[in-house]
Amino acid sequence: MQKVLGLIGGMSWESSAQYYRMINEQVRDALGPMHSARLLLWSFDFADIEALQRAGDWAAATEAMVAVARRLEAAGATALVICTNTMHLMAEEVQAAVGVPLLHIADPVGEAIRARGLTRVGLLGTAFTMEQDFYRVRLAQRHGLEVLVPDADDRAQVHRIIYEELVRGQVHDASRQVYRQVMQRLVEQGAQAIILGCTEIMLLVGDNDAEVPLFDTAALHAQAAAMHLLSPG
Ligand code: GLU
Repeated sequence: MQKVLGLIGGMSWESSAQYYRMINEQVRDALGPMHSARLLLWSFDFADIEALQRAGDWAAATEAMVAVARRLEAAGATALVICTNTMHLMAEEVQAAVGVPLLHIADPVGEAIRARGLTRVGLLGTAFTMEQDFYRVRLAQRHGLEVLVPDADDRAQVHRIIYEELVRGQVHDASRQVYRQVMQRLVEQGAQAIILGCTEIMLLVGDNDAEVPLFDTAALHAQAAAMHLLSPG
């Protein structure tokens, strides 16, 4: 019998829909064509979350995340997945509030990069993910990675395209070109790979858009989630 995964999503629903599809596909591939994943999904109204992020009200954002984590645990989730990189900012508080494991997005990413023998990576994501410690430090301390981020102008562009386009389901060639150039500059600084450290970036760029391997956090996290569902015990 599969376990039950609690997804904390809606940040944005564009990427949660991809998680839902990828987790179901992996369970189907493992168990057979009639099978699908046992999931509980909480989908936030992203406008509420984005307003808290923009205001820097991380205390209220943490409260909202903790409340949902508890609801999913009470509903029977055997593990939790936060379907966004940015909202791992309060991963420790969420984990401390529940008795089931939180499958942290940075861990399958760090493991996949190390498995390829790479150690110096460029990170693209929201300004929160690129600039604050919560994400880079976990990659550095737990996975031994050296993490490069774009310069301030490039970070602003990457962040703007996420919030003004990707979370709204808008995919534009001009923005793909911007991301290509930002990734190229990271490669010139020595990045051996690029982390797509926002769960919507895979809507915009793929393997052909950079000279180095891309690590899609949504796909790697969904894979780890499916492995949890299928694991014994
Ligand atoms: N999904 C994005 C991420 O992975 C950004 C949206 C959010 O702020 O949660 O960081």
